[in-house]
Amino acid sequence: MDRVDCVVVGAGVVGLAVARKLAQAGREVIVLEEAEAIGTITSSRNSEVIHAGIYYRAGSWMARMCVSGKHALYRYCGERGIPHKNCGKLIVATNAKETEKLQSIKAHAEANGVLDMQLLSGEAARALEPALACDAALLSPSTGIIDSHAYMLSLRGEAEAAGAAFAFHTPLIRAKAEAGVIEIEAGGEAPMTLQCDLLVNAAGLSATTVARHIDGMPIDRIPPAYLAKGNYFSCNARAPFSRLIYPVPEPGGLGVHLTLDMAGQARFGPDVEWIETIDYEVDPSRAERFYPAIRKYWPTLPDGALMPSYSGIRPKIVPPAVATQDFLMQGPRDHGVAGLINLFGIESPGLTSSLAIADHVAELAEI
Ligand SMILES: Cc1cc2nc3c(=O)[nH]c(=O)nc-3n(C[C@H](O)[C@H](O)[C@H](O)COP(=O)(O)OP(=O)(O)OC[C@H]3O[C@@H](n4cnc5c(N)ncnc54)[C@H](O)[C@@H]3O)c2cc1C
Repeated sequence: MDRVDCVVVGAGVVGLAVARKLAQAGREVIVLEEAEAIGTITSSRNSEVIHAGIYYRAGSWMARMCVSGKHALYRYCGERGIPHKNCGKLIVATNAKETEKLQSIKAHAEANGVLDMQLLSGEAARALEPALACDAALLSPSTGIIDSHAYMLSLRGEAEAAGAAFAFHTPLIRAKAEAGVIEIEAGGEAPMTLQCDLLVNAAGLSATTVARHIDGMPIDRIPPAYLAKGNYFSCNARAPFSRLIYPVPEPGGLGVHLTLDMAGQARFGPDVEWIETIDYEVDPSRAERFYPAIRKYWPTLPDGALMPSYSGIRPKIVPPAVATQDFLMQGPRDHGVAGLINLFGIESPGLTSSLAIADHVAELAEI
């Protein structure tokens, strides 16, 4: 049976960043990907926002990895000419109660190490974005957007240049961990068995399923899985904004916000829709909830401007009643299986955090 140092399951943005990190550390790496290409699942169904790290619970993995991942990602993109834009974001308050909240959002961001937030009067905000309706706003200068596909191609290229190999159409079917060696059975068109010293489970929405198929992995350490879909609507009118616009968050979500792609095209969302099975269809009737929410800060949004666009699904490991989750990154010390790393619940800000997550995986693997 062939033996390699490391197998990474999943070629989403996280698996790619991990494969690059391990290969550049001199390890022999094979990436198993069940789809036909890199980044076809959640990594191509997101907002492509480089998050600042404002809202996450202080001290959480999300808070820490978002802030360090953001700095690493800007540096990475800058050094390699990967299209990105540090466009900034405005959190807008449209009544007195929301205006009061801005101060506490700023304090929370500061506790997370986001030290550049600026409180603006409605007038100052309109000097930046003249079409904006708001009483006050909070400017996050370090928020940005990225061409995530160019980023993923770069990660893949660097992983391959350091010797990593990719096997597409090759799902991990099961594995067996015994005495420090992990034996892997992969399916697809060219089924294979492999032995490795390190298995990194970066299977995104399937990470809990993959973990359940690893003989030796204690079942009570595998979190439950829930699906929270996020629907997007595109806008056929030109949105007159050059920054991302977010309402003050409401319990349960960030509110209907406006993000921009690298071409300056606006999209609204994602909302939160808890679902039982994976389904990426966007129900056009959800637009009814988007219009009034958007018009609070963009009153001139024309009727009929919103078109159903795409959706992505958050790999939740906590049920709807629990407001927040964190990344759950388990190494041998957490579950007792030598050579196994599981990455569970890598929802937003997973793209922003990808380089920091890869560093953490190397630490867990003691590389
Ligand atoms: C609606 C939405 C909006 C988001 N917006 C942002 C944002 O603006 N900024 C941000 O930082 N983050 C954002 N995120 C989060 C970000 O998209 C994810 O954290 C990130 O893409 C996760 O990458 P991943 O590699 O873990 O998972 P994925 O991209 O899902 O990759 C997992 C891969 O594993 C493969 N796989 C699964 N099972 C197997 C198997 N058995 N064998 C082999 N391969 C397998 C899959 O085919 C897939 O390619 C958003 C997420 C969602 C859902």
